[in-house]
Amino acid sequence: MAQSIEHTFGTPVELEPGILRLMLPLPSGPRHVHCYFLRGEDGWLLVDTGLGLMETPWEEVLAELDGPVTRIFITHMHPDHVGGAEAAAAATGAPVVQGRLDYAQCERVWGTDDWPERIAEWFLRNGVPPEVADELIESGHVFADFVRFAWNPTLVEAGDEIDGWRIHATPGHADGHLILHRDDVVIAGDTLLTPITPAIGLYPESRPDPLADYLSSLELVASLAPRISYGGHGVPVAEPAARCAAIAEHHAERLDRTEAALGGGPRSGYEVSHDLFGDSLSPIQRRFAVAEALSHLERLVAAGRAARSGDDRVVAYTR
Ligand SMILES: [Zn+2]
Repeated sequence: MAQSIEHTFGTPVELEPGILRLMLPLPSGPRHVHCYFLRGEDGWLLVDTGLGLMETPWEEVLAELDGPVTRIFITHMHPDHVGGAEAAAAATGAPVVQGRLDYAQCERVWGTDDWPERIAEWFLRNGVPPEVADELIESGHVFADFVRFAWNPTLVEAGDEIDGWRIHATPGHADGHLILHRDDVVIAGDTLLTPITPAIGLYPESRPDPLADYLSSLELVASLAPRISYGGHGVPVAEPAARCAAIAEHHAERLDRTEAALGGGPRSGYEVSHDLFGDSLSPIQRRFAVAEALSHLERLVAAGRAARSGDDRVVAYTR
């Protein structure tokens, strides 16, 4: 299967009968995000909604469909998936369905004014220099402005069904991440991607060991033995179980590199992020790099391969 991605924005493309993909633009990162239309009993189920920043011409998109959108399902609360939910709900009149834990975190991050300060304070404790933390506050406020999630959605949990699709919890990339499974198809959100690998970061007020969560989620997806998995970015995953194994191996190697970075004295998540991802990152990239370093450091601590020391002011890790 081709690994290059042709960008055809704004037009739903049929992937197989009853499954359409809508590609929407992103200003950074992978430059695109995928939404899906899944044929249900009385119309289409829309999965994910893109970012609120680049206005989606929903009227034009909906005109391409042979029926109404009757429900909107959110895989997880990251901006590129939930940020367009309010606009999509307004354009379709359809109710938004979101995981209970995911929505709680969505409100806590995007529905409050002080999240950028809270996350910056936490980064300071993990060794991020004050001037970099200040930039994180700035960029965090800009970001929050264009996330337009839908308030008070219908809440669901793992084990529930929507339009014949079984909902499974796949924590890791986000604590409350949900995927859909029906027959031999998985709609994976950002749990399983190719060619990129999903970011697995530790964040404040979140589950303590996201990498352990994620590795279990990969095992769950593999155990469903799907024929194909459609993700939020990149190309369809034609051999999902093999891709799960490859990503697990990638993290095993990164854990080894993280452990090796703890050779000398105590080191912060910020310092270790330089070993793993280099010195020349933008503030936004550094934010992901620190969170990713911390998820690996915490996994090492839980596995007895590293120790965490520190207090309310500073956290450091040793081998
Ligand atoms: Zn995403």
